[in-house]
Amino acid sequence: MAGSLMAGSLAAGSLAAGALLGCSQSEAGRAPDDVAVEPKPSAQGAPPTAPRSDPGQVAPVPNSAQPYSVKRAPPAESVRPESAVPLNVLLITVDTLRADHLSCYGYSRATSPCIDRLAAQGTLFERCIVQWPKTGPSMASMLSSTYGSTSGVMRETLKVKVPLHYDLLPEIVQRSGWNTLGVVSNISLSEKFQYDQGFDRYFVHPGASSRGDAVTDRAIELLEGREPQKNFFLWAHYLDPHAPYVPPKRHIEPFTSDAKWQAGAAPPLPVDPRVADPNAPAPEMNDLGMIPAYAYFPARYPWVKEKDQLRNYVAAYDGDIRYVDEQIGKLLDWMNERQLLTNTVIAFTADHGEGLGGHDYYFEHGRFPYDDCAHVPLIVVHPDWQPRRVAAPVALMDLAPTLLDLLGLKNGWQFEGQSLRTWLAAGAPAEAAAPVFTESGYTKEFDVAVRRGKWKLIKIGSQKTASLLTGKKYELYDVEADPGETKNLVDEESEIAEQLKEELDAFVDSAYAKTPPDPEGVELSAEEKAQMEALGYTGDG
Ligand SMILES: [Zn+2]
Repeated sequence: MAGSLMAGSLAAGSLAAGALLGCSQSEAGRAPDDVAVEPKPSAQGAPPTAPRSDPGQVAPVPNSAQPYSVKRAPPAESVRPESAVPLNVLLITVDTLRADHLSCYGYSRATSPCIDRLAAQGTLFERCIVQWPKTGPSMASMLSSTYGSTSGVMRETLKVKVPLHYDLLPEIVQRSGWNTLGVVSNISLSEKFQYDQGFDRYFVHPGASSRGDAVTDRAIELLEGREPQKNFFLWAHYLDPHAPYVPPKRHIEPFTSDAKWQAGAAPPLPVDPRVADPNAPAPEMNDLGMIPAYAYFPARYPWVKEKDQLRNYVAAYDGDIRYVDEQIGKLLDWMNERQLLTNTVIAFTADHGEGLGGHDYYFEHGRFPYDDCAHVPLIVVHPDWQPRRVAAPVALMDLAPTLLDLLGLKNGWQFEGQSLRTWLAAGAPAEAAAPVFTESGYTKEFDVAVRRGKWKLIKIGSQKTASLLTGKKYELYDVEADPGETKNLVDEESEIAEQLKEELDAFVDSAYAKTPPDPEGVELSAEEKAQMEALGYTGDG
């Protein structure tokens, strides 16, 4: 059943070759009227509007015109001998990146020419599901290959550190001889939360230094200064699509006049009252049903005329994706020119997606386990293996065991994910339809979802949360037919719901019964706290 999921949903076709050329525009100057990408500050401003989440349209799979030099051997030698030189690893993660807003995942806008180019050379997992759709918990899950309920990195983002006694992916490769390099742009991944474990060099670019060009420049600097006698492992985490959405003008303008924008006219959205009056009381649910204050269009973006229109926020979000795509292209071009990709496994993914109005949830993530926040891209390029697409759901926590498997290294003792090596080499094996679970929410009664093939069952943890949604404790969706998860089929498809309930209830009972280490708390400076708050992090998550 899993094998058929999404199959055929992305028609193989071709992008114009020109669309793949010069995608990074690396050193090209900006247009004179371009406004520099604004760092992620706190928001100010006036109000936006409109439609619900976009289901995306079928888009072509790009050709591999102008491919990166990632394939190091002709087809006849395409099986990697055991004695081959160890591989480098380039791990790129993008904050807040919905899979369905990338062209290679079927989006109607050309947001991602560079990522598409990468996808054309690797394995694209059509349904990669995160284990907790919030930065810290998701990245802790990716690096430690554990669920949040296991590690304790969940619920209260500001209070929880990644456990020191875990074997994290970077620690394992570091002690196996790799030169480990990291640059992250979200302060919630800083050393204070212990995400720097296992890195020889680790840079955090918070606040004003968080934009994509700084990350790319730092990544290049790290590669230039790498230890030449060692293989490298580089993790670069970009923040740009995180709200507030502030792309260069040249990247938002194409999306504020196209057909999608034209079709997106809708009534204005309510705005957090603190936009107009900073002293107004905080709404109880300021990310539900309204534009949160921190995401409100900054005043210095005067060309955004209707600041309460959802379609303008979606255009800006897509513009941020186009910008980060350009920066990723710049890094890949730099590496490609220096032959650094020919012996390198490239993994590209995200920590979570973004609420763009689905379920009345705006410009945030982490509260619910719906696919707008739980479904992320996952593309893995291996120098020896042919490009393919995998339709069966996989978990982001499968990435660490996969990379270690490719490097010939053993998993950490606490790993809960599985290696996808055979999937990369030959596609998903028939028996691989293991369930994928996602946890979400901010309370001890967190929500949990299970995914099998096209079916997804959600167990809402609390009555309060259920009252914000369908009012039901369980929600069943056919995510193939209904990607926006709008029609709860729990009564209509009772047989399937019952089967999944058994599996989900057992997982929830186990997850709730776990006793992860008590949060030690994290001491943040006033500046660090302000930087966190500018990204929407509050005391509860
Ligand atoms: Zn994030």
